[in-house]
Amino acid sequence: MKKKLKVFKFGGASVKDASGIKNVTSILQSFKEEPIMVVVSAMGKTTDALERIVAAHANNSGEAHQLLENLKQSHYVIMEELFGKEHPAFDDVNDTFVAVEWILEEAPHPNYDFLYDQIVCVGELVSSKILSAYLNHAGLPTQWLDARDIILTDDIYREGWVQWDETVENANKITKPMVEAGGFVLTQGFIGSTTENFTTTLGREGSDYTAAIFSYCLDAESMTIWKDVPGVLTADPRIFENVAKLDRLSYKEAIEMTYYGAKVIHPKTIKPLQNKSIPLYVKSFINPEAAGTFIGPDVDDLYPPMVALEKNQVLLNISTRDFSFVAEHHMSHIFTKIAEFRLQVNLMQNTAISFAVCVNNVDDRVQKFAQSIDKDFKVVIDADALELTTVRHYTPQTLEMLRSGKIILVEERSKNTVQMVMKVVPELKRKD
Ligand code: ADP
Ligand code: ASP
Ligand code: MG
Repeated sequence: MKKKLKVFKFGGASVKDASGIKNVTSILQSFKEEPIMVVVSAMGKTTDALERIVAAHANNSGEAHQLLENLKQSHYVIMEELFGKEHPAFDDVNDTFVAVEWILEEAPHPNYDFLYDQIVCVGELVSSKILSAYLNHAGLPTQWLDARDIILTDDIYREGWVQWDETVENANKITKPMVEAGGFVLTQGFIGSTTENFTTTLGREGSDYTAAIFSYCLDAESMTIWKDVPGVLTADPRIFENVAKLDRLSYKEAIEMTYYGAKVIHPKTIKPLQNKSIPLYVKSFINPEAAGTFIGPDVDDLYPPMVALEKNQVLLNISTRDFSFVAEHHMSHIFTKIAEFRLQVNLMQNTAISFAVCVNNVDDRVQKFAQSIDKDFKVVIDADALELTTVRHYTPQTLEMLRSGKIILVEERSKNTVQMVMKVVPELKRKD
């Protein structure tokens, strides 16, 4: 019987340099007999660098060309290490960068988010071209696919919403025959296209989501994301000590933790997989033989305490100007505005005359939202280095450790979850 498709996602950390690309190639080597679709992110910190180019261009700071030149050179250095001085991939990658040069020649487009997507997509375009060329060079036949020919989105730039019917249709028409032809099919994470053929992006860290979209559309047998960690851990190892790997996790646990900031998987990834019961594996690209974490339908496991930390939070305290109760029609108005300014509400709490809401601090959206309701409501904004800590399956010891040295501004507790909006208290020290 023919084997079913597996979808692999390799993130920026896995392809950050030539040795990373060689490592990914050696992982794929051991799957060469299987139908595999590969989704790749931009190399290393390329997206951050492209964001700086967008900002420089939009502000006419005069630095955009130089920043682009630096980014190009860093890619060419990696390519020389992979291919030597001559290879057709150089022209291909150069042409892709030239498209950005053209954008920089023109006056900056007035819609920042539109401009952003047209420039930032280049990171994934070039990384996928380099990886695909290298896989072919290494004797692993690979077809390059432009994700924008498959993933159709609306025209909310920087946060494109997938138009599922058209995307499924494109995947069946274009991607499926490529998979059936044999070899690997390799595409970009993070990017899509509008009906007018303008590039959109799916939100930062969105490549995991791309892989889930393809898994859904093509009824994959499984999806694997290859990471620099052994799997999903009980907390971010960059922040906490003594973290432990979870062997199994339900879709529900995974979606709860990632929504509230567990950076290991993009939160939108879980739904398409859950909808078709496609298992998700999180595995280490450093130790590919190790089992990693399995994410799937409900598992009865007893979970240890798991912590997700979301930095860059803002707490808004919204109260009526005339001391009237915060009634349903007020709430309805506030939420309409929250949706209009696309704020992600992470926690809320209300009293008779006020309403506290904790949201992610993105661009100047919070300030614009506050202005929009200023006539009827007093809004106090606290954006002073706040963190939202979410703990699933909490114990008193875990909570105590997390609260140490912090002021809790808002806390909410249910049977399985505690959420706390906290700020660090500067320690007082006696002088004598
Ligand atoms: P990618 O290269 O695929 O984009 P990321 O750097 O976005 O990978 O995600 C991997 C990182 O996520 C890890 O290095 C780790 O620091 C962080 N992380 C945060 N929370 C967790 C968690 N609960 N389990 C594992 N890793 C986590
Ligand atoms: N390159 C994009 C980012 O850095 C998408 C991703 O890596 O998932 O956000
Ligand atoms: Mg990432």
